[in-house]
Amino acid sequence: MSSYNYREIRTPIFEQSTLFARSIGELTDIVSKEMYTFLDRGQESITLRPEGTAAALRAYIQNNLGEQSPLTKLYYVGPMFRQERPQAGRLRQFHQFGAEAIGSSSPLLDVEMMVLPRDVYLQLSIEEMSLSINSVGCPVCRPKYKTILVAHLEKVFSKLSPESQARLRQNPLRVLDSKEEQDRELTKNAPLMKDFLCPECSVHFASVTAILGTLNVPYQIDGRLVRGLDYYTKTAFEITSTALGSQDALAGGGRYDLLVEELGGKPTPGVGFAAGMERLMMVLEKQGQIKSKPLLPLLYFVALDARSRSWAFVQASALRSKGISIELDYMERSAKAQMREANRQQAKYVIVVGESELTTGVARLKNMLTGDEQTIQLEKIEQALIST
Ligand code: AMP
Repeated sequence: MSSYNYREIRTPIFEQSTLFARSIGELTDIVSKEMYTFLDRGQESITLRPEGTAAALRAYIQNNLGEQSPLTKLYYVGPMFRQERPQAGRLRQFHQFGAEAIGSSSPLLDVEMMVLPRDVYLQLSIEEMSLSINSVGCPVCRPKYKTILVAHLEKVFSKLSPESQARLRQNPLRVLDSKEEQDRELTKNAPLMKDFLCPECSVHFASVTAILGTLNVPYQIDGRLVRGLDYYTKTAFEITSTALGSQDALAGGGRYDLLVEELGGKPTPGVGFAAGMERLMMVLEKQGQIKSKPLLPLLYFVALDARSRSWAFVQASALRSKGISIELDYMERSAKAQMREANRQQAKYVIVVGESELTTGVARLKNMLTGDEQTIQLEKIEQALIST
């Protein structure tokens, strides 16, 4: 994010419910059936955020971020909540990282939103990913297209799945997005938005594809790509991975030139993306790239009596403040049980401290891996750990 000069924004986990209804769209799946919405004690309706853009734009407007600079570049990382049917790759609390560029209608930024997550994936050696792009038009061209699409779909209405029948009334573009085989077949020859774009949307889409070409970024145009959020205008895109199952989207995004105004700000174009972190972990896991490295204590103090335990605690505190991982016994166990525990925790070193060690100021530092022991000054534990 920093190489692309995005700054982090942390918004609250919940917002007023109306924010999401107004931005994502009343008729979308997210708002109509997936939001975790509650009345708070003041009888105000609040919602756990289902995505990051609405909150980022709310903060942008409320804090006049646009006045500080004509282009605001923000990123976020955090949990999102959707009450979907849980399945592999689909969780009710999941995490996204994402970015928003607010203030410019340049197609360069549309492409930036595609190549930024792609760069993250490339750096993590994600092997198989594909970028699909589409244009979902704007209020000039979309209504005309919608009429044409609805007329086409009405001819096959009775054969569509019940879900697509409902969508046809409320959100006809989403019918093209249906995963049902019968819907796919019936809409095989349906008219596509990309063929009905107004001159402005058409030029914009051509610029996006030209820039992707210049950067040598492989992509495919998917005329059926309609994202599940209503606020998109012009560009919509998705990055998918064949390493994932039916939920194959790693990231998605698009342009939302009307959203800031819709939420009460000045007319301001914007574009963004959001990427699923659990999905990314799934791909990395599949590629054998996630090696869990347990955090192991470097040193375990075995204390033989109460005074030694207090001494060890003070020493541990000093060493921990230098970033050295230390564990000791808090259970007043026998020396033997403490040694067993040090072993179980895979501590690399053990120092046994008792009355004689405290009197002489000298102890044995035992390397638990090799069994080697060396005599050390208790004052110089840190140096001993560093030099071994
Ligand atoms: P969206 O906010 O719907 O555009 O989704 C952006 C990305 O977030 C998707 O491509 C997924 O990687 C991820 N995502 C969305 N919904 C879920 C979910 N329920 N569980 C896990 N990841 C999700």
